[in-house]
Amino acid sequence: MQYRVLGCSGGEAPGFRLPSFLVEERLLIDTGSVAMALEVTQQAGIDHILLTHTHLDHTGGLPHLADNILGMRSEPVQVHGIAPTLDGVRRYLLNDVLWPDFTRIPSSAFPTLAYREVHEGVPFELAGCTITAIRVNHAVECVAYFVEMGGRTLLHVGDTGPTEAVWRHAREVPHLLAVCVETTFPNRLQEVADYSGHLTPRSLEKELDKLDRDVPVYVYHLKPAFRSEILAELKRLRRRALHVLEEGTLYRF
Ligand SMILES: [Zn+2]
Ligand SMILES: [Zn+2]
Repeated sequence: MQYRVLGCSGGEAPGFRLPSFLVEERLLIDTGSVAMALEVTQQAGIDHILLTHTHLDHTGGLPHLADNILGMRSEPVQVHGIAPTLDGVRRYLLNDVLWPDFTRIPSSAFPTLAYREVHEGVPFELAGCTITAIRVNHAVECVAYFVEMGGRTLLHVGDTGPTEAVWRHAREVPHLLAVCVETTFPNRLQEVADYSGHLTPRSLEKELDKLDRDVPVYVYHLKPAFRSEILAELKRLRRRALHVLEEGTLYRF
C-alpha cells in the first residue's frame, strides 16, 4: 500500500507541514497541507478525502484544494467524515462566509465537492480500499481510519489522547501492516496533552501496550517547537519498530 506523507507536523512553520496523507494517489486522509504539497493537476486527481475531524490543521487545505480544482473534474471529490465533522465543515469552514460552499459551485448539479457521511464501525469501500472508522478520544469528535487493501490493513489514527476502542479493533485485524499515531507534546506538558486530547511519549507507550501486537509504529503530529525534546523522549522508550514519519516521503507498507 502506497502512503505518501504530504505533511505530518502538529504545527505549521517553514519546513513543517500540516497533516495530509495520500494513499495510492486517489485517496487523501486529511487536508492540512495538500494544496501546498501537490501540483494542481495532482490535486485534481484525488477522488476521495477522509477527514478525521474538524480541526483546522486537518481541514485547512480543503478550501484551497476546492478552489484550485474548480472546473477540472467531471465528478465531485467525495469528502467523507462522521456527521459532526461534516457538519462542522459545512457550518464553519465552507459556509459561504469564511469560504464559498463548494457543494454548490459551479452548480448544485455539478459541484466541486460532495459530502458523504461515515458511520463508525461500518466498513465501506472506496478507491479499491475497505475503510472502517473507529472513534478516538480528542477535544472534538474524531476518528481513526483502518484502511484495508488486499487483506492487509494500515491503521491511521487521527488526533487522540488515551483511548480504547481503536486498539480493541486493531487487535482483531488479521494483517496489520503499520500504525500511524500522533504524539503532540513532550512529557513535561502531559497535563496540556491530557486536557487537549493528545499524547506524549509517556502516554503513547501506554497506548501501544494496549495494541498488544508487534507491528511497526510511525509517530507524527509533533509540535515543531518541541520536536527535538519529543524525539529524545521517544528514543528513551527503547521500543523496537518505533519510527517517526518523514514529510514528503512515500512509504510502501
Ligand atoms: Zn485536533
Ligand atoms: Zn491535529
